[in-house]
Amino acid sequence: MSQRDYYEVLGVPRDADGDAIKKAYRQLAMKFHPDRNKDDPSASEKFKEASEAYAVLSDGDKRARYDRLGHAGLGGPGGGGGVHFDNIEDIFAQFGDIFGGRGGGLFENLFGFGGGGRQGSQQRRGRSLRAAVDIDLEEVIEGAERTLAIQREETCGSCAGSGAAAGSKPQTCPGCRGRGQVHQQQGFFAVRTVCPRCQGEGEIVTSPCEACSGQGLAPQRREILVQIPAGIEDSAQIRLSGQGESARRGGDPGDLFVEVRIRPQEGFHRDGRDIYVEVPVSYSQAVLGDKIDVDTLDGSIRLSVPAGTPTGKVFRVRSKGLPRLHGGRRGDLFVRVFIDVPSKLSREQKSLIKKLRELDQEPQR
Ligand SMILES: [Zn+2]
Ligand SMILES: [Zn+2]
Repeated sequence: MSQRDYYEVLGVPRDADGDAIKKAYRQLAMKFHPDRNKDDPSASEKFKEASEAYAVLSDGDKRARYDRLGHAGLGGPGGGGGVHFDNIEDIFAQFGDIFGGRGGGLFENLFGFGGGGRQGSQQRRGRSLRAAVDIDLEEVIEGAERTLAIQREETCGSCAGSGAAAGSKPQTCPGCRGRGQVHQQQGFFAVRTVCPRCQGEGEIVTSPCEACSGQGLAPQRREILVQIPAGIEDSAQIRLSGQGESARRGGDPGDLFVEVRIRPQEGFHRDGRDIYVEVPVSYSQAVLGDKIDVDTLDGSIRLSVPAGTPTGKVFRVRSKGLPRLHGGRRGDLFVRVFIDVPSKLSREQKSLIKKLRELDQEPQR
């Protein structure tokens, strides 16, 4: 199945910035939201497609990979960047906060059902942000640090977040008398909806601040240090409380969620805090015994292979695995040896092996 270009899906140019991408996605998500298109089954496919495009283009690393290599840059073994949503709930779980609501997310925002007794905008939080960092498996031993460059909406310095130009003040919204919600009759039911005049803010800015166009927020680039603890699992999320976007008019800021992706390291398999490797030995080493060098995540070790070691034998090396997330002894390294059968032999090796075969075929004494 051929996949459409993500920029085409969102209808944005290739150099679109984060805000333009977010805006385009929000519009498409509203348009194709499955609850709004119950009679059109293709809408939910379009909703998913837009969400997948957004998941990639809103993530710096994934977008860079996609720009370089297209869809092929995201999928495939070890690619780790492919995004596929099987169901709509996952999309809400991941992007609910884009639509401005909490919990109910898009649904709440589209239809204006006030969730959990929210009043006006006073308790609205800033949006949470998501980012991802890649680390190497060996960094899991000691933990790591990364500096993350993000752009986020912060309280506008010119108007201190009010959105009103210097010398003016926001006015209480006459449509809802500052409550942010109005009652509307729909058939038999009276429902609360977000006030259409102030969009739930409870206030109206009559002369908007020029720096932020009355939004009260302005984009800022920030570098944020992320401490990655030792023992972290692949795809774990680190939550940096309050490092998301600022809220309008004094609410709490959102959080920054950082997904930690551990690059697979060839030859090393992780299971919790234990590490598994496979090491070849020659037939003669297995039969006669030997000392072999085995690479671990931190340096190489010398392993004694006793005489008469069968292929597939597993040796346990204590404390050469990974630590647990909250400290304690490191896990173990399991070394499975296998007999490496050569595909090419020298003349001399060949004659010796033939000799060995003759000896093997003699009746045992
Ligand atoms: Zn401003
Ligand atoms: Zn209002």
